[in-house]
Amino acid sequence: MTRVSNQSARPQSVSVVNINSLRTVVITGGAGFIGSQLCDRHIERGDKVLCLDDLSTGRMENITHLIDHPKFAFRKHDVIEPYSVQGPVDLIYNMACPASPPKYQADPIKTLKVSIFGAENALKLALEKNAVVLQASTSEVYGDPEVSPQSEDYWGNTNSFGPRSCYDEGKRAAETLFHDYHERYGVRIRIARIFNTYGPRMDPEDGRVVSNFICQSLKGTDITVYGDGSQTRSFCYVDDLLDGLMALVQAPDDVFYPVNVGNPGEFTINELAHILQDLVPSNSKLVHEPLPVDDPKQRCPDIRLAERVLGWKPKVSLSEGLQKTIPYFAAELRANRVLSSRAQ
Ligand code: UDP
Repeated sequence: MTRVSNQSARPQSVSVVNINSLRTVVITGGAGFIGSQLCDRHIERGDKVLCLDDLSTGRMENITHLIDHPKFAFRKHDVIEPYSVQGPVDLIYNMACPASPPKYQADPIKTLKVSIFGAENALKLALEKNAVVLQASTSEVYGDPEVSPQSEDYWGNTNSFGPRSCYDEGKRAAETLFHDYHERYGVRIRIARIFNTYGPRMDPEDGRVVSNFICQSLKGTDITVYGDGSQTRSFCYVDDLLDGLMALVQAPDDVFYPVNVGNPGEFTINELAHILQDLVPSNSKLVHEPLPVDDPKQRCPDIRLAERVLGWKPKVSLSEGLQKTIPYFAAELRANRVLSSRAQ
């Protein structure tokens, strides 16, 4: 295990984003599951929001309710390509990237480019506007971790030469770019290492474990457990994650180092399946399918740093969060005529 201090030796001027006086917030990937809910949160606060999304995995229906809002603008844009924004920008969230394994592996070269060029384009905008820029990093930077829980000073155990590498290594390289723009140009960076997150607005088709298991339970089809189901994940409800991200962007500029944002409640995939069998009674039975290559065996965030520097920790238990999420998927399946209108 390799460890490094969270603190760089470089002296920092400390300034705090006053979120109440924000003018313009740019959210890349703003039509995605998490990005669109960040758009909502900032519109609710009275901020102007510019949402950039190429709609490759983001969905227009996530932002339809905002389209006519006078403080909301949507630009269809692939963040691999440079972009400019007129007028002041106070805050940038760089959320754009396919995030579920089937989606990011569908076009791995694109995923790597989005991770790296998307990060650099966000950093260039932050540099030009003297804006705070938050990078949506990931627990995947820890790869298949050899220590648990994972704290930010664990360097990880990643494979640079496999099907997950486009995402894992892309996100690692993005953190490096953030580090270097901060060191070289003093860009005001924040890095959130986001652990598995679930909730309304997930794409039912994105192939993640929570969306698959809920949809399978609702449809009464087999619940597909990959491998023997003993691998673990820690699931964070989206509202908790949004609180964590918003706490991070409001932190002083000396919180420029990576911070884990996730729920430390750790469950095996079998346990998740059994919880859902209790919550959604159906005829679904568990079936085992092959474990994907390089699938991490365990994942659990150490969130002591977030608790200390952000005063943040998640509040929603897995069972509560799933109960808030199931009706959303039921409505999605009904809308797509997969479920009858009487179901759930
Ligand atoms: N998984 C599963 N069945 C599914 C989808 C995923 O057993 O239908 C497993 C997957 O192999 C992994 C865990 O659930 O061990 C979480 O997968 P997910 O794709 O949600 O996210 P990851 O954390 O792997 O990026």
